[in-house]
Amino acid sequence: MTLYRDEGIVLRTHKLGEADRIVTVLTRRTGKIRGVAKGVRRTMSRFGARLEPFTHVDLQLHTGRTLDVITQAETIRPYGEAFVADYPRYTAGTAMLETADRLIMAEKEPALRHFLLLVGGLRTLGSGEHEARLVLDAYFLRSLAVAGYAPALEECARCRAPSVRAFAIVAGGVVCGTCRPAGAAVPAGETIALMVALLKGDWRSADASEGRHRAECSGLVAAYLQWHLEHGIRSLRHVERERTERELTT
Ligand SMILES: [Zn+2]
Repeated sequence: MTLYRDEGIVLRTHKLGEADRIVTVLTRRTGKIRGVAKGVRRTMSRFGARLEPFTHVDLQLHTGRTLDVITQAETIRPYGEAFVADYPRYTAGTAMLETADRLIMAEKEPALRHFLLLVGGLRTLGSGEHEARLVLDAYFLRSLAVAGYAPALEECARCRAPSVRAFAIVAGGVVCGTCRPAGAAVPAGETIALMVALLKGDWRSADASEGRHRAECSGLVAAYLQWHLEHGIRSLRHVERERTERELTT
Protein backbone atom coordinates (compact mmCIF):
# COMPACT_ATOMS: atom_id res chain seq x y z
CA MET A 1 0.00 0.00 0.00
CA THR A 2 1.50 3.31 -1.11
CA LEU A 3 0.57 6.60 0.53
CA TYR A 4 0.71 9.85 -1.37
CA ARG A 5 -0.33 13.48 -0.85
CA ASP A 6 -1.52 16.00 -3.36
CA GLU A 7 -3.72 19.07 -3.50
CA GLY A 8 -6.53 19.57 -5.95
CA ILE A 9 -9.94 20.92 -6.87
CA VAL A 10 -12.92 18.57 -6.38
CA LEU A 11 -14.64 18.31 -9.78
CA ARG A 12 -17.52 16.02 -8.87
CA THR A 13 -18.67 13.27 -6.55
CA HIS A 14 -20.98 10.33 -6.93
CA LYS A 15 -22.44 7.72 -4.65
CA LEU A 16 -20.80 4.36 -4.09
CA GLY A 17 -22.81 1.77 -2.18
CA GLU A 18 -24.59 2.76 1.02
CA ALA A 19 -22.11 5.08 2.65
CA ASP A 20 -19.22 5.92 0.35
CA ARG A 21 -18.54 8.42 -2.38
CA ILE A 22 -16.26 8.44 -5.38
CA VAL A 23 -14.61 11.86 -5.61
CA THR A 24 -13.05 13.11 -8.86
CA VAL A 25 -10.25 15.61 -8.20
CA LEU A 26 -7.97 17.59 -10.53
CA THR A 27 -4.69 17.62 -8.62
CA ARG A 28 -1.58 19.73 -8.99
CA ARG A 29 0.95 16.91 -9.45
CA THR A 30 -0.92 13.69 -10.22
CA GLY A 31 -3.47 15.04 -12.70
CA LYS A 32 -7.06 13.84 -12.61
CA ILE A 33 -7.71 11.18 -9.97
CA ARG A 34 -10.74 9.35 -8.65
CA GLY A 35 -10.66 8.37 -5.00
CA VAL A 36 -13.06 6.66 -2.62
CA ALA A 37 -14.11 8.57 0.49
CA LYS A 38 -15.39 5.94 2.89
CA GLY A 39 -18.29 6.44 5.25
CA VAL A 40 -18.93 10.05 4.25
CA ARG A 41 -22.63 9.58 3.50
CA ARG A 42 -23.43 7.84 6.77
CA THR A 43 -22.99 10.91 8.93
CA MET A 44 -22.79 14.62 8.28
CA SER A 45 -19.05 14.28 8.43
CA ARG A 46 -16.69 17.20 8.17
CA PHE A 47 -14.50 14.93 6.08
CA GLY A 48 -17.32 14.65 3.55
CA ALA A 49 -17.99 18.39 3.60
CA ARG A 50 -14.39 19.03 2.55
CA LEU A 51 -14.89 16.79 -0.48
CA GLU A 52 -17.67 18.81 -2.12
CA PRO A 53 -17.27 20.20 -5.67
CA PHE A 54 -15.33 23.50 -5.94
CA THR A 55 -13.27 22.83 -2.80
CA HIS A 56 -9.50 23.18 -3.04
CA VAL A 57 -8.29 20.38 -0.77
CA ASP A 58 -5.07 18.91 0.48
CA LEU A 59 -5.43 15.13 0.26
CA GLN A 60 -3.73 12.03 1.52
CA LEU A 61 -4.53 8.86 -0.37
CA HIS A 62 -3.39 5.30 -0.54
CA THR A 63 -3.32 3.48 -3.82
CA GLY A 64 -5.87 0.72 -4.08
CA ARG A 65 -6.26 -2.13 -6.55
CA THR A 66 -8.90 -0.34 -8.58
CA LEU A 67 -9.54 3.03 -6.92
CA ASP A 68 -7.35 5.00 -4.53
CA VAL A 69 -8.72 5.61 -1.05
CA ILE A 70 -8.81 9.12 0.43
CA THR A 71 -7.63 8.89 4.03
CA GLN A 72 -7.32 12.60 4.88
CA ALA A 73 -8.71 15.83 3.47
CA GLU A 74 -7.96 19.37 4.64
CA THR A 75 -9.61 22.42 3.08
CA ILE A 76 -7.20 24.88 1.48
CA ARG A 77 -9.93 27.11 0.09
CA PRO A 78 -13.68 26.47 -0.24
CA TYR A 79 -14.28 28.28 -3.56
CA GLY A 80 -17.89 27.12 -3.63
CA GLU A 81 -18.81 29.41 -0.70
CA ALA A 82 -18.46 32.47 -2.92
CA PHE A 83 -20.94 31.06 -5.45
CA VAL A 84 -23.80 29.60 -3.41
CA ALA A 85 -25.77 32.83 -3.20
CA ASP A 86 -24.96 33.92 -6.75
CA TYR A 87 -26.64 31.86 -9.45
CA PRO A 88 -24.67 33.17 -12.51
CA ARG A 89 -21.41 32.49 -10.69
CA TYR A 90 -22.58 29.09 -9.51
CA THR A 91 -23.56 27.97 -13.03
CA ALA A 92 -20.34 29.40 -14.51
CA GLY A 93 -18.30 27.54 -11.87
CA THR A 94 -20.20 24.31 -12.51
CA ALA A 95 -19.49 24.64 -16.25
CA MET A 96 -15.77 25.10 -15.47
CA LEU A 97 -15.63 21.92 -13.38
CA GLU A 98 -17.48 19.93 -16.05
CA THR A 99 -15.24 21.23 -18.82
CA ALA A 100 -12.06 20.39 -16.89
CA ASP A 101 -13.41 16.90 -16.25
CA ARG A 102 -14.26 16.34 -19.91
CA LEU A 103 -11.17 17.93 -21.46
CA ILE A 104 -8.83 15.89 -19.25
CA MET A 105 -9.70 12.37 -20.26
CA ALA A 106 -6.75 10.41 -18.88
CA GLU A 107 -6.40 9.79 -15.15
CA LYS A 108 -3.09 10.14 -13.32
CA GLU A 109 -1.41 12.03 -16.12
CA PRO A 110 0.00 15.32 -14.84
CA ALA A 111 -2.07 18.28 -16.08
CA LEU A 112 -0.48 21.21 -14.24
CA ARG A 113 -1.56 23.89 -16.73
CA HIS A 114 -5.18 22.72 -16.54
CA PHE A 115 -4.96 22.73 -12.73
CA LEU A 116 -3.54 26.28 -12.58
CA LEU A 117 -6.12 27.50 -15.09
CA LEU A 118 -8.98 26.06 -13.05
CA VAL A 119 -7.70 27.47 -9.74
CA GLY A 120 -7.20 30.87 -11.38
CA GLY A 121 -10.64 30.74 -13.00
CA LEU A 122 -12.44 29.85 -9.75
CA ARG A 123 -10.53 32.53 -7.84
CA THR A 124 -11.39 35.20 -10.42
CA LEU A 125 -15.02 34.05 -10.50
CA GLY A 126 -15.24 34.21 -6.70
CA SER A 127 -13.63 37.66 -6.51
CA GLY A 128 -16.51 39.23 -8.43
CA GLU A 129 -14.09 41.53 -10.31
CA HIS A 130 -15.42 40.60 -13.74
CA GLU A 131 -18.76 39.49 -15.13
CA ALA A 132 -19.26 35.73 -14.61
CA ARG A 133 -19.91 35.15 -18.33
CA LEU A 134 -16.60 36.80 -19.28
CA VAL A 135 -14.68 34.74 -16.69
CA LEU A 136 -16.29 31.57 -18.01
CA ASP A 137 -15.57 32.38 -21.67
CA ALA A 138 -11.95 33.22 -20.80
CA TYR A 139 -11.68 29.87 -19.01
CA PHE A 140 -13.21 28.00 -21.99
CA LEU A 141 -10.88 29.65 -24.51
CA ARG A 142 -7.76 29.11 -22.43
CA SER A 143 -8.52 25.52 -21.48
CA LEU A 144 -9.20 24.76 -25.15
CA ALA A 145 -5.80 26.31 -25.93
CA VAL A 146 -4.09 24.16 -23.25
CA ALA A 147 -5.81 21.09 -24.74
CA GLY A 148 -4.42 22.06 -28.16
CA TYR A 149 -7.67 23.40 -29.64
CA ALA A 150 -7.10 27.17 -29.54
CA PRO A 151 -9.30 28.80 -32.19
CA ALA A 152 -7.56 30.87 -34.88
CA LEU A 153 -8.59 34.47 -34.17
CA GLU A 154 -6.14 36.75 -35.95
CA GLU A 155 -5.61 35.10 -39.32
CA CYS A 156 -7.55 32.65 -41.49
CA ALA A 157 -7.59 29.19 -39.89
CA ARG A 158 -7.10 27.58 -43.33
CA CYS A 159 -4.80 29.78 -45.42
CA ARG A 160 -3.46 32.25 -42.82
CA ALA A 161 -4.65 35.27 -44.80
CA PRO A 162 -4.70 38.30 -42.47
CA SER A 163 -8.08 39.56 -43.67
CA VAL A 164 -10.89 37.51 -42.15
CA ARG A 165 -14.64 37.64 -42.65
CA ALA A 166 -16.33 34.82 -40.75
CA PHE A 167 -16.04 32.31 -37.89
CA ALA A 168 -16.31 28.63 -38.79
CA ILE A 169 -16.16 26.03 -36.03
CA VAL A 170 -15.25 23.17 -38.37
CA ALA A 171 -12.41 25.21 -39.89
CA GLY A 172 -11.00 25.97 -36.43
CA GLY A 173 -11.75 29.67 -36.02
CA VAL A 174 -11.86 32.77 -38.21
CA VAL A 175 -11.69 32.32 -41.99
CA CYS A 176 -11.14 34.58 -44.98
CA GLY A 177 -13.72 35.19 -47.72
CA THR A 178 -12.18 32.51 -49.95
CA CYS A 179 -11.95 29.76 -47.32
CA ARG A 180 -15.29 30.54 -45.72
CA PRO A 181 -17.50 27.42 -45.66
CA ALA A 182 -21.27 27.66 -46.16
CA GLY A 183 -23.11 28.43 -42.97
CA ALA A 184 -20.17 30.13 -41.22
CA ALA A 185 -21.18 32.79 -38.71
CA VAL A 186 -20.27 36.41 -39.44
CA PRO A 187 -19.65 37.97 -36.03
CA ALA A 188 -18.86 41.64 -35.38
CA GLY A 189 -15.19 42.57 -35.42
CA GLU A 190 -15.59 43.63 -31.76
CA THR A 191 -16.72 40.10 -30.88
CA ILE A 192 -13.52 38.58 -32.33
CA ALA A 193 -11.50 41.28 -30.54
CA LEU A 194 -13.22 40.27 -27.28
CA MET A 195 -12.29 36.61 -27.84
CA VAL A 196 -8.66 37.67 -28.40
CA ALA A 197 -8.73 39.76 -25.20
CA LEU A 198 -10.17 36.88 -23.15
CA LEU A 199 -7.66 34.39 -24.52
CA LYS A 200 -4.78 36.76 -23.70
CA GLY A 201 -6.13 37.85 -20.31
CA ASP A 202 -6.54 41.48 -21.39
CA TRP A 203 -9.26 42.29 -18.84
CA ARG A 204 -9.22 46.03 -19.50
CA SER A 205 -10.46 45.47 -23.04
CA ALA A 206 -12.79 42.64 -22.03
CA ASP A 207 -14.46 44.63 -19.23
CA ALA A 208 -15.00 47.55 -21.63
CA SER A 209 -16.87 45.38 -24.17
CA GLU A 210 -20.56 45.85 -24.95
CA GLY A 211 -23.28 43.43 -23.93
CA ARG A 212 -24.22 42.44 -27.50
CA HIS A 213 -20.61 41.50 -28.28
CA ARG A 214 -20.36 39.52 -25.03
CA ALA A 215 -23.52 37.62 -25.95
CA GLU A 216 -22.22 36.89 -29.46
CA CYS A 217 -18.84 35.83 -28.03
CA SER A 218 -20.50 33.45 -25.51
CA GLY A 219 -22.56 31.84 -28.27
CA LEU A 220 -19.52 31.22 -30.49
CA VAL A 221 -17.28 30.01 -27.66
CA ALA A 222 -19.96 27.63 -26.35
CA ALA A 223 -20.55 26.18 -29.83
CA TYR A 224 -16.80 25.86 -30.46
CA LEU A 225 -16.24 24.12 -27.08
CA GLN A 226 -19.20 21.79 -27.59
CA TRP A 227 -17.96 20.79 -31.02
CA HIS A 228 -14.49 19.98 -29.68
CA LEU A 229 -15.79 18.05 -26.69
CA GLU A 230 -18.04 15.91 -28.88
CA HIS A 231 -15.35 15.53 -31.47
CA GLY A 232 -12.85 14.55 -28.76
CA ILE A 233 -15.14 11.99 -27.22
CA ARG A 234 -16.13 10.65 -30.62
CA SER A 235 -12.48 10.21 -31.62
CA LEU A 236 -11.78 8.53 -28.30
CA ARG A 237 -14.61 6.08 -28.90
CA HIS A 238 -13.15 5.43 -32.32
CA VAL A 239 -9.74 4.65 -30.76
CA GLU A 240 -11.36 2.31 -28.23
CA ARG A 241 -13.34 0.53 -30.94
CA GLU A 242 -10.21 0.03 -33.02
CA ARG A 243 -8.36 -1.32 -30.01
CA THR A 244 -11.18 -3.76 -29.23
CA GLU A 245 -11.32 -4.92 -32.86
CA ARG A 246 -7.57 -5.43 -32.90
CA GLU A 247 -7.77 -7.47 -29.69
CA LEU A 248 -10.57 -9.60 -31.13
CA THR A 249 -8.74 -10.33 -34.36
CA THR A 250 -5.32 -11.16 -32.89
ZN1 LIG B 1 -8.34 31.57 -45.99
